[in-house]
Amino acid sequence: MSKPFRTLDDVNVSGKRVLLRVDLNVPTENGRVTDTTRIERVASTITEIADKGGKVIMLAHFGRPKGARNEAFSLQPVAAAVADVIKRPVAFATDCIGETAAATIAKMKNGDILLLENTRFYKGEEKNDPAFVEELAKLGDIYVNDAFSAAHRAHASTEGVAHKLPACAGRAMQAELEALTIALGNPERPVAAIVGGAKVSTKLELLGNLIKKVDLLLIGGGMANTFLFAQGKQVGKSLCEKDMADTARSILAEAENTKCRIVLPVDATVAKEFKAHAQARVVDAGHVAEDEMILDIGPKSVAAIEHILGQIKTLVWNGPFGAFETPPFEAATFAIAKKVGTLTSEGKLKAIAGGGDTVAALNEAGVAGQFTYVSAAGGAFLEWMEGKALPGVEALRVK
Ligand code: AMP
Repeated sequence: MSKPFRTLDDVNVSGKRVLLRVDLNVPTENGRVTDTTRIERVASTITEIADKGGKVIMLAHFGRPKGARNEAFSLQPVAAAVADVIKRPVAFATDCIGETAAATIAKMKNGDILLLENTRFYKGEEKNDPAFVEELAKLGDIYVNDAFSAAHRAHASTEGVAHKLPACAGRAMQAELEALTIALGNPERPVAAIVGGAKVSTKLELLGNLIKKVDLLLIGGGMANTFLFAQGKQVGKSLCEKDMADTARSILAEAENTKCRIVLPVDATVAKEFKAHAQARVVDAGHVAEDEMILDIGPKSVAAIEHILGQIKTLVWNGPFGAFETPPFEAATFAIAKKVGTLTSEGKLKAIAGGGDTVAALNEAGVAGQFTYVSAAGGAFLEWMEGKALPGVEALRVK
């Protein structure tokens, strides 16, 4: 089967000016980069293009300068952090278009690496303005997009330029697309999804798409409370969107049509107070007292999910089972994360996870490294799971 996306294997970068869109929106404190994870993800793409004799010209955004030059959002300190990670010199141009950028690029030798200033210093970036796209495109011969996390936005540097130059996915983008294809494109079955987190209302499109695609949908977190309430069960003072009860019932009905089995918690860990080390007890679903709230799923639910995990081949996971930041309500999320990690390490399961809280929970449980793939992209990962076309990805498709 041919690849659906063009990659670095499909282009010859030698001697070419390669516009490389990367995600360098890294956390900083007093001008110093405090977490280099995003830089590490794109490091191999940068060095591969340089080693093949391409001139690497990095495009990135940083923060929200709202279309105006603002030194507080300069990428200059990030250039030094990239150099530290890839252990090679990284030059910096104080503008991403115009004379300054063009003159700096003209002096580059094959294999040189350059970072251009924040693309969001121009209004044309977020507007995907054709004139700004043209200015960017003039600077390169080939466009490589390695910023999956920004691919849900049709901006000039994430989408517009891809239509002006030969375009392909960088290695980090390629890894992300391959992982997502394993999870929802053409998964080995049975395939299950875990959807947890706070609210049904923020994940409606996600649930709607998943019930069409997966064999089992395991619902946890605050959103499970809404489903339990919709089934007429007591939820006390739990986080629960009572006005979403009809929606929850229609999702349950639709899942019957699509032959997706929805698995809801059968028990819960409850407390009267939402605070660390609050006194907690386990109750069967529906037996929550009026002054109690559900803060995690209970041990019977965990056992049922562990049993299911032993029977499936593919898992895609977004959202925690409980309020995992507040002990002891991390227990179910961590136990299930560890089980998934073990089954994946043993080659029995392919597990793809994503979303900010989910990644934090898997890291805390110490199992992120055992998963098949953990996506650091928040919004873009969710939109992919919702079945939406991502403009930055669509522009790289083989037509
Ligand atoms: P989301 O961003 O929708 O994935 O929601 C993640 C948040 O949901 C985390 O901060 C969890 O603490 C929270 N959460 C999960 N389960 C519950 C629950 N039963 N009650 C309150 N908050 C919860």
